[in-house]
Amino acid sequence: MRGTPGKSTGAPAGDTIAAIATPAGRGGVGVVRVSGSAVGAVIAGIVQRQLAARRATLTTFQGGRGEALDQGIALHFPGPHSYTGEDVLELHGHGGPVVLGLLLERCIELGARLAQPGEFTQRAFLNGKLDLAQAEGVADLIAAATATAARAAARSLAGVFSREIRAVVDALIELRMYTEAALDFPDEDVEFLRAADVRGRVAAILAQVTGVLVRARQGALLREGLAVVLVGRPNVGKSSLLNQLAGDAVAIVTPIAGTTRDAVQSQIEIQGIPLTIVDTAGLRPTDDPIETLGIERTWAAVARADLALVLVDANVGGSIGEEDAAILAQLPVALPRLVIHNKIDLAGLVPRVEAGGVPERDVESAPAERHVFLSAKTGAGIELLRQEFLRLAGVHEDMEGVFLARARHLGALRDAVAQLEAAAGHAAAAKPPLELLAEDLRAAHTTLGTITGEFTPDDLLGTIFSRFCIGK
Ligand code: GDP
Repeated sequence: MRGTPGKSTGAPAGDTIAAIATPAGRGGVGVVRVSGSAVGAVIAGIVQRQLAARRATLTTFQGGRGEALDQGIALHFPGPHSYTGEDVLELHGHGGPVVLGLLLERCIELGARLAQPGEFTQRAFLNGKLDLAQAEGVADLIAAATATAARAAARSLAGVFSREIRAVVDALIELRMYTEAALDFPDEDVEFLRAADVRGRVAAILAQVTGVLVRARQGALLREGLAVVLVGRPNVGKSSLLNQLAGDAVAIVTPIAGTTRDAVQSQIEIQGIPLTIVDTAGLRPTDDPIETLGIERTWAAVARADLALVLVDANVGGSIGEEDAAILAQLPVALPRLVIHNKIDLAGLVPRVEAGGVPERDVESAPAERHVFLSAKTGAGIELLRQEFLRLAGVHEDMEGVFLARARHLGALRDAVAQLEAAAGHAAAAKPPLELLAEDLRAAHTTLGTITGEFTPDDLLGTIFSRFCIGK
């Protein structure tokens, strides 16, 4: 476990890291970044002049034999006023892979070593420049799949999420002080700790954490998105629906053809939430081995999905036939699903959403899903479908105020809620068992501390930073 940032597993003294911070390939500008105690030597070797702190200096970058490697801007950020908290040098040269490689090599000659992925940000974290949730915001901002997700990551980076966690932790620390003091001075516990007061405080903290959890869930949705699977008999209009949804989306990313003819995956976005939609092979009884394989893959996609769209043909009398009912019955019970009655243009129906059963249908064979009537061909009713997505995804509010959160944050928040609920249980007793109460509060404090990195096991830190890109 780590203690206060900057105090434990800091970088070994004298260790200097360097990396190309801009993406591989050609571009207008490329940046080599260096951090650590050898920055002075690197400046002396490459720039061969003093650099004013935090001032852009146009200069020639020199190689080992005094030859010009490039001409560009050098920027020196003396520690601790830098991204990592150490001495940092940035060389902004021309964005060619070879020239940047030469610059990097020169930095290494002068005493730096190649940085690991995320190592700059890890140092920033270890030196107390950022907390862990903010550091994750850096990676999430870079990886953001939608503009809304990018703005949410920027809010995490700016510390919005961390401040909410800190506010809870501060309230917890105060309550822990009371309970620990009451434990230390048992005779005076009435003085320190009035049971009603404790109950009120635990309840307030629990409400606070629950509120953060609700908002973090929205943030996680922006980051993780939803996996949606399209299932149904052949020819009900699955591909047409996918095209209709993707065609309207601004942020359509490359549709990836599956390894066989059976699965096509598209990325679309609805109100900033990335949706991965998997179009699957038509499901029907078959002896064809290739089709069987496709159908197996369909069920594998179903197992990974957050939501199933079950397409049926509204133009066929009664809509849900035996085969459709069989497909519905085979879906995992807990998997949320929408039944899409497609081809309403042919059936002469208007777009609508229905909760529960549809008339003229064997209710027993189909559980009470929600039903959307639309036309994948004309686009009528597609907007209703989008609204249903948002409702099922649990989007409660305008995503503009949300901070980005990860699955690990949600896990910690859920654990903290459980620990605080246990604390509330103890606090409700006529004479609260102080040891147990204190233990639950301590556990909740530790759990929340893993979000900001106050209490985060080193191996988890290693995993988190190893997923960053090199040079970040
Ligand atoms: P899939 O096999 O389930 O992927 O179905 P397709 O998307 O390939 O559609 C099968 C046929 O139905 C195609 O000829 C489509 O043009 C047609 N189709 C799909 N949706 C609609 C719709 O809403 N209205 C009409 N009139 N035809 C549709």
